[in-house]
Amino acid sequence: MFKMENPGDQPVWVNTDNCKACDICVSVCPAGVLAMKYETSSTLGAMISIEHPESCIGCNDCELNCPDFAIYVADKKEFKAAGHSFAKLTDEAKARQEVIAANNYYVTEGAK
Ligand code: SF4
Ligand code: SF4
Repeated sequence: MFKMENPGDQPVWVNTDNCKACDICVSVCPAGVLAMKYETSSTLGAMISIEHPESCIGCNDCELNCPDFAIYVADKKEFKAAGHSFAKLTDEAKARQEVIAANNYYVTEGAK
């Protein structure tokens, strides 16, 4: 399958041209990596935002659940070979995801 090239050693990245701001990826992320942001320049009024890439555990749930093939996760082997590693799922990351979910999947102030 076509996989958009990693724009620079990122664990997860988005093709914003394809994103329909449906927030499904945010809802399935266990680690509070993703959130929706209000975006006045978008006809959708919102856009996906990768808020905490350092917390990405590489589970692929966002990529597998995106109906528009707009979000991509680095290949584990390639990511490791490039000297990077995915995070472990922490209590802090889980708590952040709960706060984001409670905020209708939008970015929250103060969520660490
Ligand atoms: S699931 Fe896909 S289309 Fe929906 S917000 Fe996430 S990246 Fe965008
Ligand atoms: S790969 Fe998993 S942890 Fe990383 S952004 Fe996607 S759903 Fe979240």
